Amino acid sequence: MHVTEIIEKKRDKRPLVKKEIIYLIDSYLDGFVPDYQMSAFLMATYINGMNEEETSWLTDAMLYSGKVITHNNKKGPLIDKHSTGGVGDKISIALVPAAAACGISVPMISGRGLAHTGGTLDKLEAIPGFSTDLSIEAFLDQVALVGCAIIGQTRDIAPADKQLYALRDVTGTVSSIPLIASSIMSKKLAAGLDGLVLDVKFGPGAFMTDIGQAKNLAQTMVLIGAQLGKKVTARLTSMEQPIGMMIGNSLEILESIEILHGRGPKDTVELILELGAEMLILGNKAKTLDEAKQLINQALTSGRAFDIFVRMVKAQGGDVQFVLEPERFKKAEKNIVIEAKDDGFIQKIDSRKIGTAVGMLGGGRFRLEDEINPRVGAELKIKIGDQVLRGQPLCIIHADQRGLDEATLRIKNAISIGKEPVSKPQLCKDRISTIN
Ligand code: URA
Repeated sequence: MHVTEIIEKKRDKRPLVKKEIIYLIDSYLDGFVPDYQMSAFLMATYINGMNEEETSWLTDAMLYSGKVITHNNKKGPLIDKHSTGGVGDKISIALVPAAAACGISVPMISGRGLAHTGGTLDKLEAIPGFSTDLSIEAFLDQVALVGCAIIGQTRDIAPADKQLYALRDVTGTVSSIPLIASSIMSKKLAAGLDGLVLDVKFGPGAFMTDIGQAKNLAQTMVLIGAQLGKKVTARLTSMEQPIGMMIGNSLEILESIEILHGRGPKDTVELILELGAEMLILGNKAKTLDEAKQLINQALTSGRAFDIFVRMVKAQGGDVQFVLEPERFKKAEKNIVIEAKDDGFIQKIDSRKIGTAVGMLGGGRFRLEDEINPRVGAELKIKIGDQVLRGQPLCIIHADQRGLDEATLRIKNAISIGKEPVSKPQLCKDRISTIN
């Protein structure tokens, strides 16, 4: 078999067969296929796409490029959640312990910030000492003992995806449906799950801005799950404005602690209840979505989810005192208040601009080796549809020295006020599932 022939086939829109895909992935991992050939293949795939079978073979090849975890001592059904990436998306931090408090085992393999979106791992690492780099054995023990763990992709888990992802990031080939779908599903299914809930984002702050594309991505991932014998449910959720009020690593941990005390912002809690309910349905812990939402809500308001969060932080080496006394988190040097220039209604809060601004303050990476400053971020005081008066605070920027002027300008431009009342955007739009 020749790699050039495989590339040419994809270039000429001829479908690949299973053994060609397996050969390509295995040879890339062995170092036999260099980055330049793989880049050409990725670009051809980006342009010409893949059919359902090719996408599922690619997922399979990446899934079995490393270890597929087996949980011998599982406590409950193994269900995870994955978001395709959003601004202010701190959902997993409270959702994972809440689902565990309802009897689900959550072996979450999560990601770092990407482009303008933040990453759960970077957020958790804002807790001093918290390690997202556990061995597979430690990960398994923690899931069996505590009911949940959140770690990063190790070298053993879907290594082909890890390598391909880095290559896609620098070759303009990230936002392709078959490449995203196979990337997410391979590493998620390598965690040995029984079921998976997908939060597929659409709108200005998401990788898929168009709802049609997001739906297509969701359908592709649900189908891959079904082909591999897994229960998968996808929800399509709007990224029209940031999720919650806080954007930035420590700030999002602080907001998550509030949620775990039953005091979170309405939209964030709504999303946690919706996605948590889907996890309970997949794990057979509730019969209806309404019943499941109530169970997740009780886990949050009773403090049971918070207790599991504390145990998870402790098990992963984090300083629990920061979680118990959140005022210990270091504050940024400056607080800049952005005020409303006019009376009116909030028309737009551009998530992408806000996410990029927080990145510029040091809250995200622009190069792989950049260090994150967990203290910086944006604290919104308004949501779309709110009525405001001139001079009213719209946002507080938490900043040290870096990127302040440019970030301030972007955040000012991100928020628009108009005279006409606007209705609040609907957060959850659609549901696609292999079960009903
Ligand atoms: N998240 C992933 O894990 N992979 C992608 O390709 C995009 C988002």
